[in-house]
Amino acid sequence: MVQPYKHEPFTDFSVEEHRNEYLEGLKTVEGYLGKDYDLLIGGERITTEEKIVSYNPANKEEVIGRVSKASKDLAEKAMQAAVEAFKTWKKTKPEIRADVLFKAAAILRRRKHEFSALLTKEAGKPWREADADTAEAIDFLEYYARQMLKIKDGVPVQSRPNEYNRYDYIPLGVGVIISPWNFPLAIMAGTTVAAIVAGNSVLLKPASTTPVVAAKFVEVLEEAGLPKGVLNFVPGSGAEVGDYLVDHKDTRFISFTGSRDVGLRINQRASTLSEGQIWLKRVIAEMGGKDTIVVDSEADLELAAQSIVASAFGFSGQKCSACSRAVIVEDVYDQVLNRAIELTEQLTIGNPEDQTNFMGPVIDQNAYNKIMDYIKIGKQEGRLAAGGEGDDSKGYFIQPTIFADLDPSARLMQEEIFGPVVGFTKARDFSHAIEIANNTEYGLTGAVITRNREKIQQAREDFHVGNLYFNRGCTGAIVGYQPFGGFNMSGTDSKAGGPDYLLLHMQAKTTSEMF
Ligand code: NAD
Repeated sequence: MVQPYKHEPFTDFSVEEHRNEYLEGLKTVEGYLGKDYDLLIGGERITTEEKIVSYNPANKEEVIGRVSKASKDLAEKAMQAAVEAFKTWKKTKPEIRADVLFKAAAILRRRKHEFSALLTKEAGKPWREADADTAEAIDFLEYYARQMLKIKDGVPVQSRPNEYNRYDYIPLGVGVIISPWNFPLAIMAGTTVAAIVAGNSVLLKPASTTPVVAAKFVEVLEEAGLPKGVLNFVPGSGAEVGDYLVDHKDTRFISFTGSRDVGLRINQRASTLSEGQIWLKRVIAEMGGKDTIVVDSEADLELAAQSIVASAFGFSGQKCSACSRAVIVEDVYDQVLNRAIELTEQLTIGNPEDQTNFMGPVIDQNAYNKIMDYIKIGKQEGRLAAGGEGDDSKGYFIQPTIFADLDPSARLMQEEIFGPVVGFTKARDFSHAIEIANNTEYGLTGAVITRNREKIQQAREDFHVGNLYFNRGCTGAIVGYQPFGGFNMSGTDSKAGGPDYLLLHMQAKTTSEMF
């Protein structure tokens, strides 16, 4: 019998045995650094001349792996393989599809620390962050498999006498999965397996900075018994392969996670009919955020400062849920700001392979340059209160940075920076703070620190974000516990890891028979 779902526990690295397991994982990864990885099309491994080279962001010299790069021709071949595989996969029993996910979860759990160590190497994730990413990937597998078992017999509808009505969910067709680098395992795996367990076949295009962990995950699904052609692995340039697949007439849906601009582009292109296309493409898009923690005057101020610092600087602020704005009611502004500065100055930054470092690098040179540019802008818009320096000589390291006294409409308070930078602004009172919190085009996560229950209720009603947290930070959603996804420019209002997520990859069919 399938056991009830429970999330994968995080590893306690204060225990020596667990630390050793992680170090073993690092050794395993070091054993395969620099290797080549193929495309996977219809079960066939294909090597191309042109490669995507993946580097360690903490150590630019270190090559993590070289991954074959799909051209348009190969993308077309993969599309045809997916179209073919869909014919049988859609008829494969949901229980069998779910079992592939359950087995993949078991394999991943056995190789947990190896995968986490690979995330440390390829994405610059500190131990705790890498461990959470791997745990989340396991959770997606376990949760979506169970969700599929729940909906496999459809939903009851009414029948009149001598009538038998049914309402069943059937898969959509071929899906294109386009994933980001910041949760290179969890989001890549989650979006892929949700589509697959629902009976679709997919083409997976991972982010170009983190393709090796995706290649390794593809191997796990093969080992778990996924039939050929159901998952086709086509790393490549977003502009070339991405556009080609998004535009393709056989693409039935696109599941995208990434930036606002790319999401908008995909949404627009997907709405244009291609020759021979006979459906409206569905787009599931999880986009950026500009997430706020609001601190009320009636609040635990130590909790407030801790929550801001942890949410702003965990994984160098490179989470769509990261706190990049702190809106503080004026009576307690100085106190919270000063404590946040103190806590920030205590943070350690350096190679994430060293467990004692709280923060590692940012992902690449482009990200480094963009964040440093925002730090320059911040110096004009506000007061630099902590950090502000970067060093890209060996890897892409940027200090955790706080800007104080920003205007709520400042660029630093409006645009997604996606790095370790948080802006502070002052609000007259709680209602004003909520108003400021809502004044961006995004609506992903937010948190409110207050002891006042009425204000909690006010925020519940008025703070317009997909994930709202009280008296805690605004990152760290757990699959099946805090389904995740935002409003407005943060996406298509879907909730990954939620009870209705699989339905986004399916369509309902009504059948009615007279007896
Ligand atoms: P990105 O938009 O640069 O890239 C995302 C993916 O899109 C990559 O695989 C990329 O290769 C691909 N891509 C680029 N151009 C394309 C095109 N023309 N057609 C098709 N695909 C294309 O984002 P990123 O830098 O990888 O990730 C960071 C962004 O993702 C941030 O904005 C962050 O907020 C967002 N994000 C959102 C969520 C969420 O759940 N809402 C989760 C994680 C990350």
